[in-house]
Amino acid sequence: MTDKAKRFPLTLSSVVDQKSKTDHSKRSVATPQTATKNAAWESSRPVPVPRTASGAAPAPSVNRSMARPAQTASHVERSDSMVSDGVRKAMVDRVARQGVNDARVLAAMEAVPRHMFMEPGLSSQAYIDASLPIGHHQTISQPYIVARMIEIMRDNQQGGVLNRVLEIGTGCGYQAAVLSLVAKEVYSIERIKPLHELARSNLRPLRIANIRLHYGDGMLGLPQVAPFDGIILAAAGLEVPQALLDQLTIGGRLVAPVGSRHQVLQLIQRTSKFDWTSTTLEDCHFVPLRAGTV
Ligand code: SAH
Repeated sequence: MTDKAKRFPLTLSSVVDQKSKTDHSKRSVATPQTATKNAAWESSRPVPVPRTASGAAPAPSVNRSMARPAQTASHVERSDSMVSDGVRKAMVDRVARQGVNDARVLAAMEAVPRHMFMEPGLSSQAYIDASLPIGHHQTISQPYIVARMIEIMRDNQQGGVLNRVLEIGTGCGYQAAVLSLVAKEVYSIERIKPLHELARSNLRPLRIANIRLHYGDGMLGLPQVAPFDGIILAAAGLEVPQALLDQLTIGGRLVAPVGSRHQVLQLIQRTSKFDWTSTTLEDCHFVPLRAGTV
């Protein structure tokens, strides 16, 4: 991983260094993924920490090398939202208290201007720990689960090195942006055309060179560019499609919500050409994985 790959061409602080006017009194809109983690909004208090295999850890010091001095903010649309570095830092601190302890993931979360992936009317809520609507009955995932899934994917035998990763369910493009800071190449598939286009326009001002967006049915994966060191599903199926398992490298890790009403996060690791192991982690709540395109 080169240093270059970790950074956006645009300084991120240039798009978020606005005055902090976030209205903390506004609570989240209830959407599918809010179910388990909304209580965490009270950022001043420690929240109950969901523990998984990686165990507890104090909040790590975030690598600040990603934040660069402000350059130009003028050409970045929607930068007038009521957000500051401080509010995003509070979000990251909260995610750390909830049990995410991979400093690289926390740094990526701190670097990506989440409010730029929201419609302007919701951007004041961008840093609360909730999923929020992005249209077409879909949601932007809550910060905790985005961080947690990436942390699990990175906990590999290669010390967290990820060359090529695949995301199923681009949505508004937020998680793809976070992934772009932890992997060399990010491929992301969305089945709803207007959301695929929304992600494109959300990501454009950030000029992230290592993301490739695809419109299509993610259940089929991307055999033309496989294999992937990591695959993340941002939508829940009753099972993980075999096509995706086949597109993992040996040693590769896939993280997916599985289930319908009751969902759990599942980690699947490919151990050989014909073998995979599966581990069930914590409960979660995602929008459904659906076949085909619309
Ligand atoms: N990654 C997003 C989350 C989007 S919500 C974020 O950063 O917040 C999940 C997305 O998965 C929805 O946009 C939904 O349309 C999409 N989805 C569901 N089934 C899919 C499939 N088979 N292929 C691709 N995308 C799918």
